[in-house]
Amino acid sequence: MSRRGEFGFIDFIRSNFPDPEGTTGIGDDCAVMPSGEGELLFSTDLLMEGVHFLRNESSPEDVGWKAAAVNLSDIAAMGGTPVATFLSIALPKDALGEWADRFIEGYTEISRQFDVPLLGGDTTSSLRDIAVNVGVLGRCPSGGRLMRNGAKVGETIYVTGPLGDSAGGLKAILMGIERTDDVTRLICRHKRPIPRIEAGRILMESGKAGAMMDISDGIGSDLRHIMKASGVGAVIDLERLPLSPELVSVCKEQGWDIYEMATSGGEDFELMFTAPAGLENELDIAVYPIGKIVPGNELSWRFSNEPMDRDFDGYKHF
Ligand code: ADP
Ligand code: MG
Repeated sequence: MSRRGEFGFIDFIRSNFPDPEGTTGIGDDCAVMPSGEGELLFSTDLLMEGVHFLRNESSPEDVGWKAAAVNLSDIAAMGGTPVATFLSIALPKDALGEWADRFIEGYTEISRQFDVPLLGGDTTSSLRDIAVNVGVLGRCPSGGRLMRNGAKVGETIYVTGPLGDSAGGLKAILMGIERTDDVTRLICRHKRPIPRIEAGRILMESGKAGAMMDISDGIGSDLRHIMKASGVGAVIDLERLPLSPELVSVCKEQGWDIYEMATSGGEDFELMFTAPAGLENELDIAVYPIGKIVPGNELSWRFSNEPMDRDFDGYKHF
């Protein structure tokens, strides 16, 4: 990449992200920020063209949105508050310019919506594919963070919103079905997931939750992480899974298996957590009980209290 191109691009990013008061962001060798109190949270996620997005299927704005969203979701999943992001990006020649600038527009839009500054990163050329790595820094009061290992036998399993919409949106894109209003809404849930930062913080502050994580691979896969880390089993009641009216109607029209989608399709980025029963009536946010933590190490599925001899095991990257 020409130095001019690289620095012109960084200048453009910088113009979208002025330094917050008391913090030095883009422009020096390191970002500098006050360290404050409590515990720091840090996570990164790598997105590869051809693996996580296709240049001709997703707009650059949507890729920029999602690159930030999935990282903010990791902070939400701990009950933390995002403080800043860092963006490293490798750009082939044909992506510097319009693609990269539009990517930054989407990244800026979600960053402003959740009031999270971009404080630095790195920019380099790539021979062919675009690669994007976002690092996110968050904060949480000492001891408040919610981990995957805190689930206890007898707790109820909850999620913060409808499951399967993103998987429905992805399937609609891949199959090229007609873009009705319902289909368009599912596709939007896939391309522009909303990190559940507020819900995560409220759950952390409630002091009620045992374990928490965000749903990126479907509950059939993600719940097993909580089970393994906590040394417990789980039972899910399929008929209790929250399903959006859009997903219900599109699945009916297309003949898609809605439970497969809601359990095994990834990228909803709702939160899943464990807590005492009855929490759905105690909080200012909607939470949906979907099952129970039980002794053992098995995940089983029921429908109307009847055991099912079927498994749903989530999205696999390999
Ligand atoms: P260095 O030589 O220290 O890596 P660079 O010239 O790569 O510095 O970057 C200059 C400044 O621009 C640094 O503050 C860096 O954090 C910031 N920066 C570079 N690329 C990006 C990017 N993609 N997003 C945000 N900030 C960036
Ligand atoms: Mg650099």
